[in-house]
Amino acid sequence: HGDSRDFDEAVQSVCPFCGVGCQVSLKLKDGKVKYVEGINGPANEGRLCVKGRFGFDYIHHPHRLTKPLIRLDGAEKGLNVDPANPLTHFREASWDEAMEVAASGLAKLRDQGGETVAGFGSAKCTNEEAYLFQKLIRQGFGHNNVDHCTRLCHASSVSALMENVGSGAVSATFNEIEHADVAIVIGANPIENHPVAATFFKQFAKRGGKLIVMDPRGHALKRFASHMVQFRPGADVPLLNSIMSVIVEEGLYDQAYIDRFTENWEHEKQHLAGFAPETLEDLTGIDAATVRDVARTFAKGKAGMIFWGMGVSQHIHGTDNSRCLISLALMTGNVGKPGAGLHPLRGQNNVQGASDAGLIPMFLPDYQDVTDDGVRSAFTEIWGSGDFSDKKGLTVTEIMDAVHDGTIRGMYILGENPAMSDPDVTHARAALAKLEHLVVQDIFLTETANYADVILPAAAFYEKTGTVTNTNRQVQMGRAAATPPGDAREDWQITIELAQRLGLGWGYTHPREIFAEMARGMPSLDNITWERLEREDAVTYPSLSPEDPGQPIVFADGFPREGGRARFTPASVIPPDETPDADYPMILTTGRQLEHWHTGSMTRRSKVLDAVEPGANCSLHPATLRKLGVEPGGMVKLQTRRGEIEVMARADRAVAPDMVFLPFAYVEAAANILTNPAIDPYGKIPEFKFSAVRVTAA
Ligand code: SF4
Repeated sequence: HGDSRDFDEAVQSVCPFCGVGCQVSLKLKDGKVKYVEGINGPANEGRLCVKGRFGFDYIHHPHRLTKPLIRLDGAEKGLNVDPANPLTHFREASWDEAMEVAASGLAKLRDQGGETVAGFGSAKCTNEEAYLFQKLIRQGFGHNNVDHCTRLCHASSVSALMENVGSGAVSATFNEIEHADVAIVIGANPIENHPVAATFFKQFAKRGGKLIVMDPRGHALKRFASHMVQFRPGADVPLLNSIMSVIVEEGLYDQAYIDRFTENWEHEKQHLAGFAPETLEDLTGIDAATVRDVARTFAKGKAGMIFWGMGVSQHIHGTDNSRCLISLALMTGNVGKPGAGLHPLRGQNNVQGASDAGLIPMFLPDYQDVTDDGVRSAFTEIWGSGDFSDKKGLTVTEIMDAVHDGTIRGMYILGENPAMSDPDVTHARAALAKLEHLVVQDIFLTETANYADVILPAAAFYEKTGTVTNTNRQVQMGRAAATPPGDAREDWQITIELAQRLGLGWGYTHPREIFAEMARGMPSLDNITWERLEREDAVTYPSLSPEDPGQPIVFADGFPREGGRARFTPASVIPPDETPDADYPMILTTGRQLEHWHTGSMTRRSKVLDAVEPGANCSLHPATLRKLGVEPGGMVKLQTRRGEIEVMARADRAVAPDMVFLPFAYVEAAANILTNPAIDPYGKIPEFKFSAVRVTAA
């Protein structure tokens, strides 16, 4: 894929896909990225996966938006625009005209009163852009109706971590597994979704580390596992409670750690008495002997880590699932020391940073409570503006409901694709169509842009300069390598122009000025400056001095909660919102595949990735396919209470006979037509991992 001498220039940046945050060297020829190499970043140590290595050419794809677009009078809103020919529904406009239409439509709604405008920012943008976006909604519209895809990803994990540990970020980097002797990976499929992190997990297992993999799907990490616990979907809480009940029963907990660093232990202990594994085999699908072995293996380890993904978080009991994992780490003393810790594997390249930057409706930057008068006034002082609402804003799914009931009438959507990514997407698409004014800013004419009144063409990540924060809390410098096509501009520049037209008078001229303002209101960025990041490329927060590269492990001396103690919060068993029945007898679960990223807008326009995985598919157990009379490669119909799709079926023994796994990257068989919008009451995350489904031959 190109000879190492076959380039004019190399630019160092960060992979734009997953939360691992691999550092890359982009090799350029004639102003275009020709190929990509992994370099020695703190997370990747020179490694890259197939997406990082080959998924770059989307930035040069002919579908890139190059001019601002305004919807033609009378053009119907719906999934009806060919991204190769948007001029059937839109006309090209100058930046001046498009910005005027975009801003005046939003200002008109604002000036009519009420909280009728909402914004979705993006975990694909830089920290500076995420910060500006939430500031625009709060300062420009006076309320907190601003959210992003963390709501669909780890919102429940963050809510449990904030509640019980006092911080939403990981307590240890994933690279710390090097110092562990036992690790649990639950509800995550890192070989596909965090592939470079998975290489460290495999090396850990090869060195003799005990790798306990727990998942309803038997994915590829199984080959490296000392224990593969393939439990019933939705049975996370009874399974984890039964593991902890064995630790209590057999006295394997770390009393000294519990006494020194935790609270509410006696309550947790009593609660766990009702979860003996022998009584739960039918519910969890796991025999008691295995549960006891797992409990002993984890508790007797000298240092243990717990990794989890969206198999844990995307349930109506997602917060409870994370509470259990936190309790398991606390009772075994596995936080705050080398080789130990809690690590929710973050999905998007900058979902950690966008959340840190306040792109969420309940928190200002650094998870500072928006209902706290002192917190708000600290920010309005930095911003030099008046107070804004002390009410928590609406979340992603609540915003779509609020459009339907007429409360929200206008939206500004930057880099998100709710017409594909929201649960029960038919409902979300109808909401987008109902909006009186929709401004979409993106690099392609996404499914969401099909509903826009104004489309603003943005720069892709490799065309921008700015910082991003990975799953390890490493703030890294991304550098522009290519020039945006046509009239496309960097997101921060567009948001600033919109702010100016809304009367906010912002005068930033470079992302470094935005970063400096962020750092004033975010203690997590103490000792981290733009200049330092330019020089050092990555600094882990917290960084204790201008020379400290940052702390890979936190909470060695206590937790950022009152009294310095973490809390045990017992979790009871809550069944999934929708259980299989005679009409919908199987279980649908959705997720990603190695080659494609989320709604596919980037990776399906990357030649190599699209060639490897060119079309929509689902996976079923071979026995299930036989029963249906469908050959592998044949078509099946999937129906839920929300809708139906037809999709090609693959045979996969890793999927339980009563389950179907469906990736959500494909518009031609959009998984979220089927998914259940029921949400976790704390994190407000939808139950993407469990819907009742009927599967028939198509
Ligand atoms: Fe990019 Fe993630 Fe792959 Fe690294 S592991 S190359 S960050 S997609």
